[in-house]
Amino acid sequence: MTLTPIRHNWTVPEAEALLQLPFNDLIFQAQQAHREHFDPNEVQISTLLSIKTGACPEDCKYCPQSGHYNTGLKKEKLVAVEKVLAEARRAKASGATRFCMGAAWKNPPARDMPYIVAMIKGVKELGLETCMTLGMLNAEQASDLAQAGLDYYNHNLDTSPEFYGNIITTRTFSDRLQTLAHVREAGMNVCSGGIIGLGEKPRDRVAMLVQLANMPEHPESVPINMLVKVAGTPLADAEDVDGIDFVRTIAVAKIMMPAATVRLSAGREQMSDELQALAFLAGASSIFLGEKLLTTANPGVNRDRELLTKLGINRDHQWNEDHFTPDSCPIRAFHEREKRNEHYYDAMAEGN
Ligand code: SF4
Repeated sequence: MTLTPIRHNWTVPEAEALLQLPFNDLIFQAQQAHREHFDPNEVQISTLLSIKTGACPEDCKYCPQSGHYNTGLKKEKLVAVEKVLAEARRAKASGATRFCMGAAWKNPPARDMPYIVAMIKGVKELGLETCMTLGMLNAEQASDLAQAGLDYYNHNLDTSPEFYGNIITTRTFSDRLQTLAHVREAGMNVCSGGIIGLGEKPRDRVAMLVQLANMPEHPESVPINMLVKVAGTPLADAEDVDGIDFVRTIAVAKIMMPAATVRLSAGREQMSDELQALAFLAGASSIFLGEKLLTTANPGVNRDRELLTKLGINRDHQWNEDHFTPDSCPIRAFHEREKRNEHYYDAMAEGN
């Protein structure tokens, strides 16, 4: 029986009232909403790979990949398709079911689109779901990605419309909404959430959630990130986020968008097991697995395996799927095929 309504008419005061509920009431309500749509003892596992790193023209104040800040990050051009597929294969062997690829672009350059399409097709051939985050998309690019078979497109709202200009000045909040509309129109699943710890007020956190919840369809995936403070970025010395406040935000997201997968995203490296357990209790049901999240640290696979085992989550999960033997390797087959493709090039080769 569904008790928690799917609504698209939330107001900020309503969401603020949820955020201020006694903690136990809030968590109970969120867990109840979660159980109406999900197995509470299952957590979806994704892996995230940076396929083009750094030198981004945008000025997101939290991001080590912005070309506006000197964070000592090693920049990399678009990674070769073959290398991406090798990483996808490793991710699958570690237990991931979705492979996410992120590029530090304002929007994807036309010349790189054929390689992006090849990555999507190759990862899907491995039997993984695909997700990409490539910056802003126009309608045509969204359609190209959808036709290639991209399952999810990630494009975070980051924070409230009112606070947005304090964090990013090179694009507007409505630019974000426009890309999300193109993604939806192209028929892809939407992954969109935000970051806690940018200096925003509690009201900004829920105002961002209201924006997501009042879309004609809720995003299928809502990542809630805790700011990872990186030296050299303007937010390197931002105030720490209170763990309970963070869990409250997850719970409110779950109550407002009960059928969405709320993703416990960046910042897990600095969270205790107990805090992550509370986040799962509040309705988070997806994590990124792997040592790195684009360019920042993430808990190792072993720590995650231990934590999920302790919590009795994903009991049937196969953590060590057999690797493909060289002869049956679909990556090799894909690579051999792609070499005959006039669009194929090795992005890491000299001169590219
Ligand atoms: S968050 Fe994305 S768009 Fe913003 S600077 Fe970083 S890579 Fe660029």
